Amino acid sequence: EKKVLASSAKDLSPSYDWFQTDRLITVVIYTKQKDVNADLVIVDCQDKQLRGEIIMDDHSYLVNIDLDHAVSEDVAVNIAEKVGKVEIILNKKDNVHWKMLGQPCEGHNTFMKRTDRGLFYRKCKLVSKTEVTHDTKLFCLMLPKGTHLRVPTGQHVYLKHIIAGTEVVKPYTPVLPFLPLDFQEPPCHDGVHIYLMIKIYSHGLFTQALDHLQIGDFISVSNPEGSFKKSQVQTSEDLLLLAGGTGFTPMVKLLNFALTEVSCLRTVKLIFFNKTENDILWRNQLEQLALKDERFEVQFILSQPSKDWVGKRGKISSSLLSEFVKRSRRDSKVLICICGPAPFTEQGVQYLQDLGYSQEEIHAFTA
Ligand code: FAD
Ligand code: NAD
Repeated sequence: EKKVLASSAKDLSPSYDWFQTDRLITVVIYTKQKDVNADLVIVDCQDKQLRGEIIMDDHSYLVNIDLDHAVSEDVAVNIAEKVGKVEIILNKKDNVHWKMLGQPCEGHNTFMKRTDRGLFYRKCKLVSKTEVTHDTKLFCLMLPKGTHLRVPTGQHVYLKHIIAGTEVVKPYTPVLPFLPLDFQEPPCHDGVHIYLMIKIYSHGLFTQALDHLQIGDFISVSNPEGSFKKSQVQTSEDLLLLAGGTGFTPMVKLLNFALTEVSCLRTVKLIFFNKTENDILWRNQLEQLALKDERFEVQFILSQPSKDWVGKRGKISSSLLSEFVKRSRRDSKVLICICGPAPFTEQGVQYLQDLGYSQEEIHAFTA
């Protein structure tokens, strides 16, 4: 049976071709799959190196070439979604006829398991750093000109930096620059900037180094990764988000996606666990959003409140969850997403299962 699977996988393997005009080089990738969208196409073109990766479920197809001649930094990517064709259009620096596209590099023209591919990093420039709370900052990174990359809802990237001579890698979940308050506005991902909301730990190895980056400095950012599927939300009527501290970060794009693109959702509720009031991320924006959109509700729960906190207190528990996690109708379809410190997520999933929610109704964001 294995052999059958292997040969059918080969038939489905994408292929590529290229052609040229006086000014342009066009590389065409035929994915042989419908519904290819911009989330699944990652292109990097720097110097004379072209790398194009197409994500197809748990597989990836790669074009990786050391180009024959120089091209400019402007790279256009066209996706014919329905026919699954991807065009990468490069501008020749010199008006010469190319005899060949270039020399194949590692992994060129291969179709393999994503987990076997290894992560690709490109250097991004830090363009701004703004305070969110006393210890958390919003970092805005700019992708290089020749890069086309979108981080899908629910996925994270890895940042890589050399600290005291050693390469250190940590995962972070991109957010939006702000929550969607005005649904008339076009989506705020411009394809160029990546926003990261990062808590700086006073003894943290990586976050201390990040905090010391200056505007204009560079940091390496990987391709996206993660198991979350948007389709889990698209069929839900109630969406419940349980976040602990910076476990809020995956909820940002999820909220935006749910409230702007999922028409069957009736209720969206964020239950946000923090130590103190000062630790609540984007509290004002969340309260504004709740006023603006009647489907959305937010509940803050503090584990170390000051004595004047009149809201809910405590850590995640069966009784808190049975109070706040409910279906809007007896038989409505729910999705519960949970993210935070590992013990928070583990306990939360256990309590939810004890309350009768099935595995399909729960998505835990973990490493
Ligand atoms: P570390 O040096 O690892 O230490 C962190 C803090 O914990 C320090 O105060 C340290 O003293 C303490 N500490 C370390 N080990 C222990 C221990 N065993 N017991 C008790 N205390 C300990 N973080 C964000 O801020 N934003 C995000 O969007 C984000 N996304 C993530 C996505 C994923 C998939 C995962 C797995 C994690 C994510 N994180 C995010 C966390 C992030 O990857 C780092 O773990 C975090 O930034 C801390 O890194 P650090 O090197 O600064 O800290
Ligand atoms: P924090 O220490 O400020 O805690 C926030 C809240 O989480 C607390 O108020 C409490 O209610 C709860 N909590 C903390 N420790 C707990 C425990 N042992 N048991 C039960 N509940 C507990 O949180 P932080 O410093 O902002 O840390 C956020 C965590 O989220 C980090 O560990 C980070 O790695 C993780 N994170 C994971 C992902 C992901 O996996 N995709 C994304 C973002 C953040």
